[in-house]
Amino acid sequence: MNTKPIDFSKFSSIRIGPVVDVALIENDIVPKERTILGAANNVLISPTPPPLMILSKEYDFIRLEDDGLHIGAATPGGRVVSFCKKNDIAHFEYLSKLPGTLGGMLKMNAGLKEYEIFNHLIAIRTMSGWIPKEDIEYGYRKTSINEVIFEALFEAEKGYSTERYEMFNQMRSNQPHEPSAGSCFKNPKGDYAGRLIEAVGLRGHRIGAMAFSEVHANFLVNMGGGTYEDALTLINEAQVRVKREFNIDLQCEVILIK
Ligand SMILES: Cc1cc2nc3c(=O)[nH]c(=O)nc-3n(C[C@H](O)[C@H](O)[C@H](O)COP(=O)(O)OP(=O)(O)OC[C@H]3O[C@@H](n4cnc5c(N)ncnc54)[C@H](O)[C@@H]3O)c2cc1C
Repeated sequence: MNTKPIDFSKFSSIRIGPVVDVALIENDIVPKERTILGAANNVLISPTPPPLMILSKEYDFIRLEDDGLHIGAATPGGRVVSFCKKNDIAHFEYLSKLPGTLGGMLKMNAGLKEYEIFNHLIAIRTMSGWIPKEDIEYGYRKTSINEVIFEALFEAEKGYSTERYEMFNQMRSNQPHEPSAGSCFKNPKGDYAGRLIEAVGLRGHRIGAMAFSEVHANFLVNMGGGTYEDALTLINEAQVRVKREFNIDLQCEVILIK
């Protein structure tokens, strides 16, 4: 089994985490008892994480075939958008500003508003073989997938749209520029996590170098040298205050790797 050292304080989007030897998945051989990561855009990694693994470069591919669009799970979203633009394929424009790999996006059913990665999915491939979408449970930022995804097959409908691409770019204009892991909490039904965090006085609240952003309160940002402990303290504080004042349980969207 090949491994590669990764410094998560540089690799992860929130710039937190230790240097760890991470196992590489090659030739569809998945090492046992390891946690899979993609590009670490939706995770908060503790100073003592469990053994980790990532897909090797062989899973970074995209091919148009007779049955649809085959995309390797290590393929970054930006690459998918470029391919779709070049080949005039619809429905992937929103991935341009959604950082991460296809595997992470599928596991999280990532998306923007009503546009979600499961919308045009046909099947995923794991160690168990091809699994049709109908056999997977999925919803807002969650799926029942509990295996490593190697690749996925999508509908390849004609019609790349520059207008949609611009619209998605516009939607991103209210996001902070400091390192983060995207939205910290899921939006509770009929409400917004950002609104609730603001309402309990935590917008801009800072502990050490971690803060709920002034720009968008649901983004937990690293102002430089922030720690896992400070991030956890803020997450806990928001959950306690929102529960106390609104009787709502804020659920983490960011995944704690501990
Ligand atoms: C600035 C910013 C903006 C963001 N905006 C959005 C947004 O608008 N909408 C949205 O949905 N998300 C958003 N995110 C979150 C993030 O982009 C998505 O969750 C993305 O899918 C993460 O992909 P990743 O490869 O980085 O996954 P990781 O963060 O590495 O992993 C996420 C989860 O997926 C699992 N996973 C990763 N690869 C695989 C695989 N091959 N097989 C099985 N499981 C796997 C991991 O175990 C983990 O549970 C944002 C993040 C940032 C930093």
